[in-house]
Amino acid sequence: MDFGIKGKKAIVCAASKGLGRACARSLALEGVDVVISARTEGPLMETADALQKETGVTITPVVADVTTDEGRAAVLAVCPNPDIVVNNAGGPPPGDFRDWDRDDWIKALDANMLSAIFMIKATVDTMIDRKFGRIVNITSGAVKAPIDVLGLSNGARSGLTGFIAGLSRKTVASNVTINNILPGPFDTDRLTTTLQAAAKNRGLSVEDVTAERLATNPAGRFGQPGEFGDLCAYVCSAQAGYLTGQNFLIDGGAYPGTF
Ligand code: NAP
Repeated sequence: MDFGIKGKKAIVCAASKGLGRACARSLALEGVDVVISARTEGPLMETADALQKETGVTITPVVADVTTDEGRAAVLAVCPNPDIVVNNAGGPPPGDFRDWDRDDWIKALDANMLSAIFMIKATVDTMIDRKFGRIVNITSGAVKAPIDVLGLSNGARSGLTGFIAGLSRKTVASNVTINNILPGPFDTDRLTTTLQAAAKNRGLSVEDVTAERLATNPAGRFGQPGEFGDLCAYVCSAQAGYLTGQNFLIDGGAYPGTF
């Protein structure tokens, strides 16, 4: 299937590794020129180089922290009128809400709610004018089934989800869609870090915690980033203009509900 987005321009935030990188790759394989960002230069340059060699499109790396005004401005300076925006940032740390002060909450809101809202604010009106736009926010399965130790994530991402539910109905008539993709456990650095933290907290080995986590997933495995990226590319496709305001859970069936 040809997704009909060859030659379009995309920004994928937080994309030197993991799910962001996978979204950038899947879009690039569809012929989209992609601007990717991350805070650490080395891995970002390596990813840009690797994706450009593999796909033949233009991959432009921008070293930037997308949770700051300056970081987002740096990304938008290179690509002021993207056709596609994938919002992503690192997830907040686990912990107990009794230990979090206002600064911890503001950091989580900046990373997992406001950075996406400000990227949308900066790009959605030109998408509406051009009658094409696809915005995808990488959120988390925690939006549907909260994870107790990830209260900062549960709260901040649910705020973003509520905001998107309203806005996405206002843009779709102009062929600008806004959707969220909710990862369950995917085999990335972030998952490794959370498994290591869980093992330490419970005094277990990382192998035991990993085996336990795998045993609770109906698929019996963690997701591969490429599976996530390909879903993202479809949601960004020309064919997906009637899809908006949705929350696509991709978790191997881990969420147990009917709906
Ligand atoms: P990852 O493998 O750790 O990759 C994170 C990427 O984001 C890296 O390229 C990182 O590069 C970049 N990044 C982080 N903070 C950034 C910032 N402020 N500005 C710009 N770039 C930034 O993480 P992942 O697994 O792909 O996770 C992506 C998102 O999905 C996170 O919010 C995570 O919480 C969420 N999620 C993941 C899973 C999972 O199982 N993997 C499950 C649920 C939710 P630098 O560090 O160099 O900036």
